[in-house]
Amino acid sequence: ALTITDECINCDVCEPACPNGAITMGIEIYEIDPGKCTECVGHFDEPQCQMLCPVECIPLDPLHVESRETLLRKYERLTAAK
Ligand code: SF4
Ligand code: SF4
Repeated sequence: ALTITDECINCDVCEPACPNGAITMGIEIYEIDPGKCTECVGHFDEPQCQMLCPVECIPLDPLHVESRETLLRKYERLTAAK
């Protein structure tokens, strides 16, 4: 999963771009739900939020490092649940 750092300026660009609905407004800044972020695997070649963020504050989450296989399984789980 990716994560949003406190450099976030709440510009609102990333939230609608997430194919998994993993981004929501938190108490002060936007947040990513690691249970829903597939790093865009299954939907796009590149993480959409990371591509669009104007201040580049969306790095890989060191607490949620996942292989492509794991991300793909998450994608399959999320789409099956819909
Ligand atoms: Fe959503 Fe993709 Fe960003 Fe993860 S990397 S939060 S799935 S847009
Ligand atoms: Fe914050 Fe970047 Fe998302 Fe804008 S695009 S709300 S700065 S994380």
